[in-house]
Amino acid sequence: MKEARAASLQVLERLEEAGFQAYWVGGCVRDELLGREPTDYDVTTDAPPGKVQSLFAKTVATGIRHGTVTVLIHRQAVEVTTFREETGYEDHRHPGQVQFVKRLETDLARRDFTINAMARDRRGRLIDPFGGRKDLRSQVVRAVGEAEERFREDALRMVRALRFCAQLGFRLDEQTEAALIRQKSLLRHLAVERVTQELEKLWATDKPSQGIRPLWEMGLFPHLPPFTQWDDHIGRPAIPVEEMDRQMGRWTRWALFLHLCGVPPKESGTHLRSFRLPATDVEIIASVHRLGLDWHLTPEEGSTGKQLLLSHGREKLTSALETAAVIHRWGPEEEEEMRRALLRWQQEMPVHHLRQLRVNGRNLVEATGREPGPWTGRVLDILLKKVALGELPNETEALIEEGCRLVQPGS
Ligand code: ATP
Ligand code: MG
Repeated sequence: MKEARAASLQVLERLEEAGFQAYWVGGCVRDELLGREPTDYDVTTDAPPGKVQSLFAKTVATGIRHGTVTVLIHRQAVEVTTFREETGYEDHRHPGQVQFVKRLETDLARRDFTINAMARDRRGRLIDPFGGRKDLRSQVVRAVGEAEERFREDALRMVRALRFCAQLGFRLDEQTEAALIRQKSLLRHLAVERVTQELEKLWATDKPSQGIRPLWEMGLFPHLPPFTQWDDHIGRPAIPVEEMDRQMGRWTRWALFLHLCGVPPKESGTHLRSFRLPATDVEIIASVHRLGLDWHLTPEEGSTGKQLLLSHGREKLTSALETAAVIHRWGPEEEEEMRRALLRWQQEMPVHHLRQLRVNGRNLVEATGREPGPWTGRVLDILLKKVALGELPNETEALIEEGCRLVQPGS
């Protein structure tokens, strides 16, 4: 990330040389003050977008109408946004008009939370008109200005507030929380994609429960898309919400979240699609959920375990294991033993994929003299299983011989 910071510093220097104001702003200022590594280094300036484009050799007009230009320095992308003011919010989700302004403070005032409304110049001077630094010290997420109005302008800020609490281990300021509860019905205006994006960011934190628990406790689900479109109503969490804080990957977090919401595995696909997740994710997560809930495998059942590894792959099966450990309340030793067994089976297996098999469909067609067809896939799968389980060597001759035997009538 050193390169990203250095690239953004170059951008600040160039803008200043050209006579403009330029600052780091938002998440990167917050994260550096907290001693956390920023995910990206955003820059804000009074230079109009056209000017930004002309000052740098390589730029992309990312959101030029809203004042955002991406500047490319070597291979680093730096987002540069012109100071702006947003007015005339429509549908509680986007501003009707965006005006470019001359004062940094005006730009900071449109930002959501005090901890996100600070800027820093390249000499390290902090511009903090809303007490963000103090709130960082007391670990509070507080809306900039009138919380109720800020949530009315853009309802996503309510979800973001909870996400920042989880991400940073902060709590909500009292008035911000009261406003959230009063304005929760506005959540229904949100585009599902924006909610999903916030959930994804929540899954990437150490303690998603800190974002998820308030969703229940404040009664937000009945107002939040896509939950509003689910036929079934979300009751009490099926397992303690804190279970989501165990160390686990993104697929497991989604699968457990569905479980928490009381979604039965046969309906996970439909529910996952309602978040507009990519089709591949839907398929994988639904299968992780089902495998986790139906888990019967024990560390002694090497043959079954290896077959599961063949059909699902190690990553998916590990995710299912993590899901099972929570749902079936395994102890840490039990989980560790199961993990070790998976690893051992994986290492014992001479092959894991069809492409590692020393025979292919064409070889089988030639050796048997049969017409090509779906039968080759079926035979290859059987051969793969036999090799993986150590019943057959991965040698072309032996594989072809076994393949021919398998297609003989009566075998
Ligand atoms: P992270 O990238 O770690 O998730 P971030 O603070 O950088 O956190 P972004 O979503 O990347 O969050 O937004 C960058 C900045 O833009 C924020 O710090 C905030 O100042 C402002 N911002 C983003 N979304 C909103 C919003 N919905 N309303 C007001 N300001 C916003
Ligand atoms: Mg960011």
